[in-house]
Amino acid sequence: MDALDLPRPAWMTEDLVLLEEQARRFIASEYVPHLDEWNETGMYGREVWTKAGGAGLLCPAIPEDHGGVGGTFAHEAVIARELSLGGFDSFGAPLHSGIVAPYILNYGTEEQKKKWLPRLATGELIGAIAMSEPGTGSDLQGVRTTAKKSGNGYLLNGSKTFITNGQHANLIIVVAKTDPKAGAKGTSLMMVETDDAPGFRRGRKLAKLGLDWADTSELFFEDVKLPAEGLLGSEEGQGFVQLMRDLPQERLIVCTAAIGMIERALRLTIDYVKERKAFGKAIIDFQNTQFELAECKSEATIGRVFHDHCVERHIRHELDTVTASMAKYWLTDLQNKIVDRCLQLFGGYGYMDEYPISRMYRDARVQRIYAGTNEIMKLLIARSL
Ligand SMILES: Cc1cc2nc3c(=O)[nH]c(=O)nc-3n(C[C@H](O)[C@H](O)[C@H](O)COP(=O)(O)OP(=O)(O)OC[C@H]3O[C@@H](n4cnc5c(N)ncnc54)[C@H](O)[C@@H]3O)c2cc1C
Repeated sequence: MDALDLPRPAWMTEDLVLLEEQARRFIASEYVPHLDEWNETGMYGREVWTKAGGAGLLCPAIPEDHGGVGGTFAHEAVIARELSLGGFDSFGAPLHSGIVAPYILNYGTEEQKKKWLPRLATGELIGAIAMSEPGTGSDLQGVRTTAKKSGNGYLLNGSKTFITNGQHANLIIVVAKTDPKAGAKGTSLMMVETDDAPGFRRGRKLAKLGLDWADTSELFFEDVKLPAEGLLGSEEGQGFVQLMRDLPQERLIVCTAAIGMIERALRLTIDYVKERKAFGKAIIDFQNTQFELAECKSEATIGRVFHDHCVERHIRHELDTVTASMAKYWLTDLQNKIVDRCLQLFGGYGYMDEYPISRMYRDARVQRIYAGTNEIMKLLIARSL
């Protein structure tokens, strides 16, 4: 299964090895048989979430008294890698578990944690985070959505786009201005429970180049009434600081998906070139194939080692923004490069939808764009020079 023949990283405890095996079996039996069907319908069902919750694959880093299993980021990483190895890159669970839930855990009041975390862990609630707007993505200070004080609570107005889990999500963190004149210091994270939110509307599931089954969507908020606890935490104006603190983890999750896809692409390609023949011999017997795959395997190994280094530092709470940005830009660039080289070795079949490498080629592209574009990553790294 493992295309890189690497020993397990030091952070993989026995407990995590068991989780890896359990997640692999669950994904193989519950999700993999349906991937083609979801590919045709362009969507996976709501039950995919509750099944993941039932199997303990959602929010594993949430403490037990809040409904999780009391794990660490390593648990998130194991599950996210298995989803990519299984070919379910379109599933928004890593964002739900590794991005949305931690905001609540790290910045929510006790009441907010009690109210939302257990239901995120079961899949009763599906999380999304809505930062990007039609007019602003990289420059989050330009957000125009507002949350104005109204009575004891807030009135939320604005629109968001490109939001992962946009059709299924019923608990959405919305980046909004509570004080539009104060710039970054006027930004807050607002919590919207959409099951009872008049004025909230979902736009269409956006048609896109890849991640076909992901319900990436537009969202609209028109005078949506929020109670006082609709503000995440107890102090307005903390949104930007909260976002900046949690971004390294968001980037690392993208890296884990990248490394999972790289390993899968290599495994599928090595199998294929051993089977396929041209000019009377297997494709693997051409020196060009061997050199291509030798380079891909070497670079993938470097990538995996860097990834594991970052995970280990993150578990110790020592992963800084600059290193996380290096990992995000470098590993997602590498992912695109390796998947492209692998696809070439499939010849025409690599271009056909029924071959997973074709889907991987399309799915990989967005990794260089979301969670901060790779250009923004380089800006952050450059500040450390
Ligand atoms: C499939 C998908 C899922 C997504 N999911 C989510 C989600 O769940 N939640 C969410 O909030 N957003 C989500 N996004 C949005 C994503 O985070 C943004 O698209 C991304 O941050 C870039 O913003 P933008 O599209 O507005 O591009 P822009 O900011 O307009 O950038 C355009 C180009 O200019 C470059 N650029 C911008 N500023 C600079 C600069 N200072 N220096 C050099 N170059 C620069 C960029 O790198 C890019 O190449 C998703 C996007 C996609 C495609």
